Amino acid sequence: KKQEWAKLKDEPTVTSEGDHVELAANIGTPEDVAGVLNNGGEGVGLYRTEFLYMGKNQLPTEEEQYDAYSSVLKQMGDKPVVVRTLDIGGDKELDYLDLPDEMNPFLGYRAIRLCLERDDIFRVQLRALLRASIHGNLKIMFPMIATLEEFRQAKAILNEEREKLISEGYEIAGDFEVGMMVEIPATAVIARQFAKEVDFFSIGTNDLIQYTMAADRMNERVSYLYQPYNPAILNLVNNVIEAAHAEGKWAGMCGEMAGDEIAIPILLGLGLDEFSMSATSILPARTQIRTLSKKDMASYKKQLLSMGTAEEVVEFVKEKTQSQ
Ligand code: PEP
Ligand code: MG
Repeated sequence: KKQEWAKLKDEPTVTSEGDHVELAANIGTPEDVAGVLNNGGEGVGLYRTEFLYMGKNQLPTEEEQYDAYSSVLKQMGDKPVVVRTLDIGGDKELDYLDLPDEMNPFLGYRAIRLCLERDDIFRVQLRALLRASIHGNLKIMFPMIATLEEFRQAKAILNEEREKLISEGYEIAGDFEVGMMVEIPATAVIARQFAKEVDFFSIGTNDLIQYTMAADRMNERVSYLYQPYNPAILNLVNNVIEAAHAEGKWAGMCGEMAGDEIAIPILLGLGLDEFSMSATSILPARTQIRTLSKKDMASYKKQLLSMGTAEEVVEFVKEKTQSQ
């Protein structure tokens, strides 16, 4: 099997009818890039920048961040690299920020909420990213966006820093894409309104599932409710993809679900444009996608979205994909 996968390393990801989708990888550090390229990744769909901030006792400097972002961009060449701005808080703590304990950290002060308030921290990261933008194909996305105001504020700060850097004499890439993660149900529900203002969506199912099902992603006692194939999740995902396409934008997914064997045929049928997963899942996913017909999967869309349970969805997908 490994040999079969290896043959596809430099092949495009196409369905049985030749439709292309992008298979990208999730990374945490510049050292992860080698694995992405070795596994035939067509891009980085999620660069989790938290690791730059973790495991140390102070914030990373602008130069440290610039070096890390530049390294990833240079290694990837002209392949797209989606960098997610700082997503700290929730399950990821930073001792040196001395944040107060919260009753519900996952519903609390984290990610973009923290960045918009501590814009001193946020601006340093944005400066480093803007300066690194000339070294490759950068796209920036903001995590945990709940409202349109948050997205507008974050983008305004990015533009302020861009202007400042230009007046300081730095060279910045002209017009890289700025998007957001869809991981809070509120944004999936009114994705149409967001789609007018973002350049792309990346669906973060790890959080989207926990918030939609009200089931803590770390709590084993409620893990039975953590259902990627629940029709509620599929309907939200579909809403996001349709909203993006209606505005001529693209929609990707960077949660675990994007690399899942049962989910892939469904997502293909819903029209997902980019699948971002752990590097080692890329070749198996490419192998699977080559056996699937996007047209067939799309023809099941209505049926899948109107199902009542996750179990029904799984049974249906297994039955439809076995014969292919
Ligand atoms: C997600 O929520 O799906 C996601 C990709 O982000 P993280 O797992 O880092 O929260
Ligand atoms: Mg998340």
